Amino acid sequence: MINIAIDGPAGAGKSTISRLVAKQLNILHVDTGALYRAIGLYIIRCKISFDDVESIQKEIKNCKLSIKYIDKEQRVFIFDEDVSDLIRTLEVSKAASIVSAIGEVRDYLLDFQRNIAKKESVVMDGRDIGTVVLKDADFKIFLEASVDIRAKRRYDELLKKGEKVILDDVLKDIEKRDFWDSTRKTAPLLAAEDAIVIDTSNLSIDESVKRVVDLVKKGIYGGL
Ligand code: C5P
Repeated sequence: MINIAIDGPAGAGKSTISRLVAKQLNILHVDTGALYRAIGLYIIRCKISFDDVESIQKEIKNCKLSIKYIDKEQRVFIFDEDVSDLIRTLEVSKAASIVSAIGEVRDYLLDFQRNIAKKESVVMDGRDIGTVVLKDADFKIFLEASVDIRAKRRYDELLKKGEKVILDDVLKDIEKRDFWDSTRKTAPLLAAEDAIVIDTSNLSIDESVKRVVDLVKKGIYGGL
């Protein structure tokens, strides 16, 4: 069993890099941002105001969140509906950031995430994996990149998916989420003290993946 925690801000390349690392190591990739996004989408659909924390706390237990692996790719479900593609909008990313600051939402997902890592070797990516969820992970990586580069990557990603977006809106969204994620009281975005920090600003995806895989292999052969 091996647990790899990959954290970092929006647009640092976490999900793509984690997915490819997991593929090379032939283990599961758990994209925890997708879980917060699914809850964000559920709250939007329930028409609950984001200020109504009490109703959000009550409602999260009813969303029947689950994940499945189809062709080794994580898919996220609310009830039995696959919402994996619907959660990739700016509206849902904002909602995810807001609900992720609510303690009950984090507690609910904490058990959910830990249960997966107990049973399977994983590359788990998020904001608090190395600091909270998998404090004893075998490897902790923190990915960084400048805010302009992160915004451009997200912008390209959204355009590719057919969303009509303006670069400046994406930049503002990322800055806002950076602020919310790093200043919230519960499990703020932070590199674990024992995390290895990799700045991906000037690295290609393949170079970033290689860095992580090399680190892991060195650790394993070094007698992990
Ligand atoms: O990684 P992604 O951008 O999909 O995450 C969406 C939002 O979910 C983040 O902005 C963050 O607020 C929240 N999140 C979190 N903790 C995690 C993963 C995501 O708070 N482990």
